[in-house]
Amino acid sequence: MKKHNFSAGPAILPASVMEQASQAALDFNGMGLSILEISHRSPEFTAVLDEAEILVRDIAGLGNDYAVLFLQGGASSQFFMTAMNLLDGNEMAAYADTGSWSAKAIKEARNFGKVEVVASSKEQNYTFIPRGYEVPANAKYFHLTTNNTIFGTQYHSWPETDVPFVADMSSDIFSRPIDVERFGLIYAGAQKNIGPAGLTLVIVRPDMLGKVSRTIPTMLDYRTHVSKKSTFNTPPVFAIYVAMLTFRWIKANGGLPAMAARNTAKADLLYKEIDDNPMFVGTVTNKADRSQMNATFVMAPGKEQLQATFLEMCKEAGCVGVKGHRSVGGFRASMYNALDIKSVQVLVDVMRGFAERYG
Ligand SMILES: *Cc1c(COP(=O)(O)O)cnc(C)c1O
Repeated sequence: MKKHNFSAGPAILPASVMEQASQAALDFNGMGLSILEISHRSPEFTAVLDEAEILVRDIAGLGNDYAVLFLQGGASSQFFMTAMNLLDGNEMAAYADTGSWSAKAIKEARNFGKVEVVASSKEQNYTFIPRGYEVPANAKYFHLTTNNTIFGTQYHSWPETDVPFVADMSSDIFSRPIDVERFGLIYAGAQKNIGPAGLTLVIVRPDMLGKVSRTIPTMLDYRTHVSKKSTFNTPPVFAIYVAMLTFRWIKANGGLPAMAARNTAKADLLYKEIDDNPMFVGTVTNKADRSQMNATFVMAPGKEQLQATFLEMCKEAGCVGVKGHRSVGGFRASMYNALDIKSVQVLVDVMRGFAERYG
């Protein structure tokens, strides 16, 4: 039986994408060769790369003033690449600290310039998205993590400012329409909502680049990858191929408005159960900040000793990946684009059955 995959990442991909990817690993487009053994400069792979870029532009609604890059090194490398490329030693960038990933981005940026943390929910264990702060007008950029994978919070509105956003969208990219104009640079590790690990998608406005005085190693300079169209060196060919298939799937299924509708329906279903079920409580203190991608919840007070029992019931029903991150505890159900609402219903039924038996 196919499992219901609530894993936080690497995570679920559409079944049709998996099938096509397996086929291409054996024989790509009837070439008699695997996608894994052809040149990244062959016409066949160039067509994949071109289509992937066209689909990203189409899905995200990007104008020609944005470049699309397929890089490696994970979102974690973007923590330093963004600051290295965008922030000079005597300049300041504003950061919001809304979770462990934000904190890591802040730490890395401090190696390259001044960092002002203008908003933080750290003191309350990152249980909400801060509001009511100013982004200083002299900030080179404002860095935010649009969805906090570990703590289960997500921005549903943006601070008012003319400062361009630099955003870590690793865990909610293409889950809803993007207000592109606000963003100078968007990055995302592929393994949450796009494809296999090993690929990092970057969307950047090239006019942000080339303004710092330091020497940037060639591979870490976004301009290298803009001018060489992500083929300065060997790109992660298989990961790009699978991501391209996922982009096709997103487009064929109605694009970002349809993804948002699917994700809202799934999140509403699960959060309603978390709120109604006496055995569980959500960990996000401001419900308006709840993530549609990663729902975090714990056992109700006094029921903590039943945690392992609930996880066992999940397992029996085929629900995997429900255990919470060690820094929050409890449970986390990740509901990326490819997860069907039927899987969420299975989890909800397990929660109800659990309450009937132990409540
Ligand atoms: C998973 C994740 C990361 C880390 O990504 P890597 O590709 O493993 O470096 C960074 N930011 C967010 C928001 C994430 O969810």
